[in-house]
Amino acid sequence: MAQGRIIPMVDMARLFAKRGVLATIITTPFNAARMKTTVDQVIESGLPIQQIQLPFPSREAGLPDGCENFDSIPSLARLARKTSRTVLRRDSACPKLYNFRYVPPMDNEDSPQTRDTKACVPGRCCFALLFAHNLHQYRPFESVASEHEPFVVLGLHHRIEITKAQCPIEIVGQSYFDILSNRIQEADCTSYGVVSNSFYELEPDELEPEYVEKYQKAIGKKVWTIGPVSLCNKETSDKAARGNKASISESQCLTWLNSKEENYVVYACFGSASYVFPSQLMEIGLGLEASNQPFIWVIRRSNDMSTEVENWLDGLVERVQARSLIIRGWAPQMLILSHPVIGGFLTHCGWNSTSEGICAGVQMVTLPIFSEQF
Ligand code: UDP
Repeated sequence: MAQGRIIPMVDMARLFAKRGVLATIITTPFNAARMKTTVDQVIESGLPIQQIQLPFPSREAGLPDGCENFDSIPSLARLARKTSRTVLRRDSACPKLYNFRYVPPMDNEDSPQTRDTKACVPGRCCFALLFAHNLHQYRPFESVASEHEPFVVLGLHHRIEITKAQCPIEIVGQSYFDILSNRIQEADCTSYGVVSNSFYELEPDELEPEYVEKYQKAIGKKVWTIGPVSLCNKETSDKAARGNKASISESQCLTWLNSKEENYVVYACFGSASYVFPSQLMEIGLGLEASNQPFIWVIRRSNDMSTEVENWLDGLVERVQARSLIIRGWAPQMLILSHPVIGGFLTHCGWNSTSEGICAGVQMVTLPIFSEQF
């Protein structure tokens, strides 16, 4: 229940529907409302897609009403502490959610096997999946003395060093993530295979078989690479409506972009869920100012700022307003990235953003923040 997962899932549903397969998106009311424009557009185009809404027990989980997505949570730690003990337990607060079983309508005599086939969509590329798999299996982080001591992850052709602080928390462990992590593993184990938003040629391993093949071998299951799924958004209106309602209109955004020189603008955005600390925010702002390039900078609304930081930001906006566009809230990222004036992308390396940056053919400057982004 995070935009980084929901957005590519909706793209996947469209891809399946384009092949004539009925795609059903099961989600909660708040998330359903957010994807309504996109889903309506798909339905209008005649593709077989439908939505089923399930209530989400925000209150039982100790969260405000309508708090159904990572980006509406005040902090990740709060979410984890509050919800892992309630929402994620089948037997407790939300039987409706966990007892829900969806049996898709079938036209003809499909074999029972079809109904049992489950594939999981982990939202990472195969390299990152294999990396996490090996991290989990060999547990090299257990032999380091501190969070910041580098270690090498075994079983990869490339020599990759990482620290415990940079590893996904569901693997290196924080007690409140245990239940969530077990649930994910349980789902992984019972699934028939993995669908990855990647493509074979993107993940080569020079000498040995590609990472897709290696990951497939490591888990002993089928892996389908069907990415980059974002490319199913061909029309400008599809690109502009992707995810949330943008905080800037399509025409305002295009007017600004069209006034700039080709390949010259820097786009800075750190995804849907990352929290950027005030000190980092100020450094990023100063860096963009010092770049002397025109830029678009997306600042998430939930990035609460003190009056002091707000005032500082106002000062920066005034100094750079002739060449910058600052979006507070949600940006139409695909619309922006696919515009020819964008030459660089300052990204947090979320897998969707990374793959969208690759598709747009822009240079990327990376600032990983959490999870597999490092
Ligand atoms: N996104 C967007 N506008 C924003 C922020 C994010 O359209 O202002 C989209 C972006 O195009 C991507 C997704 O949200 O498809 C973010 O996914 P990603 O894996 O990059 O990062 P996460 O949000 O999971 O950290």
